[in-house]
Amino acid sequence: MPKKIVAANWKMNKTYQEAEAFVTDFSKKILEIKKTGVILCPPFIALFNIHEKLKNTVAEVGAQNMYFEESGAFTSEISADMLKSVGAKYVILGHSERRHIFGETDQVIRKKIDRALEKGLKPIVCLGELLEERKAGKTLEVVKKQFDAAFDGLSKAEMENCIIAYEPVWAIGTGETATPEQASEVHTEIRKMLIEKFDNKTAENVTIQYGGSVKPSNAKELIESKNIDGFLVGGASLDSNHFSDIVHAVEEYLK
Ligand code: PEP
Repeated sequence: MPKKIVAANWKMNKTYQEAEAFVTDFSKKILEIKKTGVILCPPFIALFNIHEKLKNTVAEVGAQNMYFEESGAFTSEISADMLKSVGAKYVILGHSERRHIFGETDQVIRKKIDRALEKGLKPIVCLGELLEERKAGKTLEVVKKQFDAAFDGLSKAEMENCIIAYEPVWAIGTGETATPEQASEVHTEIRKMLIEKFDNKTAENVTIQYGGSVKPSNAKELIESKNIDGFLVGGASLDSNHFSDIVHAVEEYLK
């Protein structure tokens, strides 16, 4: 997978049929994409079909969550093996909606990261501060705490199998985007955290995506900013034109 990666997080949107219609259209729009990694994270019910339909394209599929246990009496949960069996290569973990609506703690997220890595799924680990934390000047403290809880003790190879998504919670689904300067500042700090905990080479190899109201109109200036290696896109990824425009903005930057 290339270093610059754009991922779609559809959240609880699209039926099986709607997902299929999206991919039929989207796969034609990414025929010229060569350098940008593309990941679609649909609801679980669409994973297998989307995986099949994307087979001859650059795009891969990921899930939006998983449970940390291997199997057993955990009604409604889904395991890493199950996700792999339908073609998922990635899994979003620690998304702010999982943290804040469903009460997932740093500890639970860490158990999921460990299980995903053990099973060969690449976690897209979301970190980000709330608005009140930003206003209180605590952004870096909050992100560092989440970073340490997620990655302390991983090997360099394990760390390189993770993608980090910096997603300021105040910018998710609100239409309010972090400015390129605000995003780049935190991304640069995350890169430094990677250097400190691992080393320069590992830090360089990890993709740090930005997420929070990314749209075709702001993708260009964000991708041009230092240490921004791609995007995790919610709302704008539901429209195949918008999502493909974001992917093309990254591809254009790489030319
Ligand atoms: C997200 O949910 O990961 C996200 C970034 O959403 P949006 O693009 O809608 O802000």
